Amino acid sequence: MPDDCLFCRIAAGEVPAKIVLENEQAVAFEDVNPQAPTHILLVPRKHIATLNELQPEDEAVVGRLLTMARDIALARGHAAAGYRTVFNCNADAGQTVFHLHLHMLGGRKLSWPPG
Ligand code: AMP
Ligand code: ZN
Repeated sequence: MPDDCLFCRIAAGEVPAKIVLENEQAVAFEDVNPQAPTHILLVPRKHIATLNELQPEDEAVVGRLLTMARDIALARGHAAAGYRTVFNCNADAGQTVFHLHLHMLGGRKLSWPPG
């Protein structure tokens, strides 16, 4: 784990975050700068910098991130109205933290296409 990786440190409990769900593979926590009433980040415990670095052995954890996001959306009552899941990859998508993370946003109408 890179010492300077913020999300590795959150997953390890070294940096505080509002954890909403965790298991042996992944951690979900509140985004510190929420863009919707619900804005959760879901990260693998394993350090993976971006979607570009994803390996075949990481496919299971990416599925786990999605089922965790779905479970949180259900628990918060967003399933019927809808919610969004997104991975930003590198500069053009606006990625700022280089540890793979899935955003889950819900609780308001989200526009499409994104800016
Ligand atoms: P991205 O722009 O896709 O790389 O998303 C990074 C996200 O991490 C942004 O939505 C930030 O608000 C969020 N973020 C940055 N630092 C923290 C932190 N310490 N705790 C929780 N979320 C954070
Ligand atoms: Zn990391």
